[in-house]
Amino acid sequence: MEHKKGVRMSKSIKQKNRIKQIKDFIIRIWKKQDTRYMINRFNDFMSLTKYHPKFESFWLQLQMPVVDSITYKLPIKIHKYVYNDKKWNVIDTLLFKYTWSEHESLISDYHCFFNKVTGFTIRFGKSVDDEPKYCDLGPEILDLEISVNGCPKVGGHNCKFCYKNNSDKPPTNMSFETFKKIFDSMPKCLYSIAFGITGVQTNPDFPKMLKYCRENDVIPNYTLSGADLTDEMIKITSKYCGAVAVSCYAGNNQLCYDTIKRLYEGSHGRLHVNMHIVLSEDPVQMAHLLNVLCDIQNKKVVGLRNIVFLRIKPVGRAANMNCKITLRTYRKIMQFCLDNKIGFGFDSCSAKTAARVLKELGHGDLTECCEPCESSRFSSYIAVDGRYWNCSFCERSDWFKPINVLDYDNFIDVWHLPEVVRVRNIETDQSCPVYDLDSKE
Ligand code: SF4
Ligand code: SF4
Repeated sequence: MEHKKGVRMSKSIKQKNRIKQIKDFIIRIWKKQDTRYMINRFNDFMSLTKYHPKFESFWLQLQMPVVDSITYKLPIKIHKYVYNDKKWNVIDTLLFKYTWSEHESLISDYHCFFNKVTGFTIRFGKSVDDEPKYCDLGPEILDLEISVNGCPKVGGHNCKFCYKNNSDKPPTNMSFETFKKIFDSMPKCLYSIAFGITGVQTNPDFPKMLKYCRENDVIPNYTLSGADLTDEMIKITSKYCGAVAVSCYAGNNQLCYDTIKRLYEGSHGRLHVNMHIVLSEDPVQMAHLLNVLCDIQNKKVVGLRNIVFLRIKPVGRAANMNCKITLRTYRKIMQFCLDNKIGFGFDSCSAKTAARVLKELGHGDLTECCEPCESSRFSSYIAVDGRYWNCSFCERSDWFKPINVLDYDNFIDVWHLPEVVRVRNIETDQSCPVYDLDSKE
């Protein structure tokens, strides 16, 4: 017993020293800025999350980037904004990004901490249990389409369920100049860009865009089939991206597994390599999905971090399909993953159902990680022609009047246009505001 106490004691001294180190570091930086208020807010943030049981297991993910920033004396950037009389601060180092709002009342209603190495993100409002409805400053995530068509065929075909209706026809690409204009208009709270590509070679400016993101404190990621992946592109991806996802198509499992292994090994395990798979009740697709889960269980997929189920939506080539997914199906695949310790996730369109099933299966604690649709609240979608839509699944629908962001120098102005605010304020009880996706049985 005494021995155990001793161990706990030394751990807690170590911990206290680290906290002191962090505080000294923050004070040193911000003394220069003469913003005592900022020091207090950051300290509050660190201690709130430290002592809150919700973040207990994640504390290291918050602490380590700050400790390492001190140890390696990394440069710190501080960005400040004032919009509608509200003040905002963004702190950026190579390892983390932290954004928060300021109020006269001294109670901040938005905090977002992003660990640039692990991708771990936490967001909360006035208290740790308070969930902000949206970020007033701008999006945290941008889904940016940089190519249409020009897809490398997979197994001799264009993908069966492509919601964009893309094919191997000649491509339309976004130029680097257009990309840069959009990127530079974004407020610094943006921490990640998901590139909407068709093939990795389709847009010749793609590597330059990835580099520009990383050099300007935004972590890029993208999804690929692997059909046109070169060793050179693995190097570029490994250098600039935080994560990649490899789509797994029925009949072409091996291409997916080989691509995951190449990316994982080529990056020496640094990249987070996930798999994307369409979740549909279509019998061929369901048999494929179960087959893939068995392959993962049998360790046939080397280097895989998580499998991510993308719920089918009635758009593009799936427009005329029955896109209902039963609760029974969600239960079956989640139980399988939990039983076999397979890391899994869903797109936010599934979040409400996934949270319900997790609770049923006795994993209510995991619902903390289920983020319902965040379009126009925390995330944004811009198509190849520079038009903003609520999300990529609404593109070309009557549901949203698109906005040409190239007409604006500052994306914060787009973020506050009536059309964006209209959809942001639709109350849906966590359901999709556009499609009827909730499962009832
Ligand atoms: S899913 Fe991707 S690769 Fe397949 S056709 Fe659509 S855009 Fe092209
Ligand atoms: S609006 Fe609907 S389809 Fe679009 S991201 Fe949200 S939940 Fe998904």
